[in-house]
Amino acid sequence: MLKKVLVANRGEIALRVIRACRELGVPSVAVYSGADEEALHVRLADEAVHIGPPKAQKSYLNIEAILEAAKETGADAVHPGYGFLAENAGFAAACSGAGLAFVGPSAEAIEKMGDKSAARRIAREAGVPIVPGTEGNASPAEALERAEEIGFPVMVKAAAGGGGRGIRVVESAGELEEAVRAASREAAAAFGEGSVYLEKFLVDPRHVEVQVMGDGEGNVVHFYERECSMQRRRQKILEEAPSPGISPATREAITAAAVRLAEEASYANAGTAEFLVDQDESFYFIEMNTRIQVEHPITEEITGVDLVKEQLKVAAGEGLSLKQDEIPLSGHAIEFRINAEDPENNFFPSPGEVTGVEVPGGPGVRVDTAVFAGYQIPPFYDSMVSKLVVRGADRHEALARGGRALEEYRLEGIKTTIPLHLRLLREEAFLSGRYGTGYLEKLLSKGG
Ligand code: ADP
Ligand code: ADP
Ligand code: MG
Repeated sequence: MLKKVLVANRGEIALRVIRACRELGVPSVAVYSGADEEALHVRLADEAVHIGPPKAQKSYLNIEAILEAAKETGADAVHPGYGFLAENAGFAAACSGAGLAFVGPSAEAIEKMGDKSAARRIAREAGVPIVPGTEGNASPAEALERAEEIGFPVMVKAAAGGGGRGIRVVESAGELEEAVRAASREAAAAFGEGSVYLEKFLVDPRHVEVQVMGDGEGNVVHFYERECSMQRRRQKILEEAPSPGISPATREAITAAAVRLAEEASYANAGTAEFLVDQDESFYFIEMNTRIQVEHPITEEITGVDLVKEQLKVAAGEGLSLKQDEIPLSGHAIEFRINAEDPENNFFPSPGEVTGVEVPGGPGVRVDTAVFAGYQIPPFYDSMVSKLVVRGADRHEALARGGRALEEYRLEGIKTTIPLHLRLLREEAFLSGRYGTGYLEKLLSKGG
């Protein structure tokens, strides 16, 4: 096993990794910025190292300071969590260069898959369907030519994009050139890389993704799919597993496609293949996230597998501990993302002091959060402060449990997305499971 793991992240995902380490008997090292001195991950880890001021650029994105912290504490591995440096190939390479096991895929795999346009090529080689679009990155002229072939509307997407940024929908030829420039500018500013490519814009598809795990030697297993169509600004708001919108035959086919893709890349560790699914259940690969995902707990709840412990075992060179036929799917799980945002005021961030907390409990309820009474939510980072995960024997029970747990949950002093989730639980489209990626925005535009 690993000897000591440095957790290069903060918030609930840092706690998640520290907990997995503790259960495996592996000491953990937290790192923290000047805004996180009182944070729970600092208290729960065995050791903690201050790595810089609040701004992420100077702390959680500061590769040098993180490697120095690993050296200083004698860590032999680094878990990057999600966000920050998790999909930074240079960071993965720097860890390896410093003799540290990176808990994730190789720098080469991150590099290949991280370019979304290059990943489309790999998918095609693996015989996995992709959304019609450009071969690789496109100039405005190339984009126009291809758009006329496949027909409008089209989507301009940044090759380096993530978190819903660097994306533009284009309805007609006249808007295309400006959209290419705008997406490119946005991506260059956010990700330091402005290349863009084109995809046909699918109307209200479902977003369905498959969790995979590889050993780096060509062996890959999957942990079924997650339904992530409930989105605002192309960012997930809640997720459920399994997807209520695909048939068993589609489940077979989409999981097999994800495994083929990961095998093609000799993929190591955890990853997620994201797909769009049409009304007739045709599916198209859109991108691979080469890290643990925010919504991984719902997969843990329906498979009984601790994915973070699996990640650590694979990084320690122990290989996959489960064969595909040892991973059964049972029950239904839903994750509600609780963000410190005001749904009444266009989801404006609502940082500040959490003056009181009452966490829901009882059967089938799991809360992954780093918030406590008296906690100051810093304004520097992501607004997600808690994940409420519920599990039921079936979808009906999971929905009922979600409703009662959301009603029990009290986070005082800040605005949160809890009222939005309670509203969704009164909406027929959500209750019936028939909703696509366009659903939530349409609902919100109606007000109420
Ligand atoms: P998931 O697919 O796991 O739900 P998200 O796309 O919601 O992931 O992103 C997870 C976290 O990582 C969020 O905090 C988001 O802001 C951040 N993130 C996503 N992509 C990037 C990126 N390319 N660079 C920096 N942060 C990112
Ligand atoms: P990111 O890297 O920001 O996560 P994705 O490529 O995963 O970007 O797309 C994010 C979301 O944008 C998808 O979940 C879906 O809602 C929407 N989307 C992406 N591509 C298309 C497309 N070709 N047609 C329609 N919607 C799309
Ligand atoms: Mg995505």
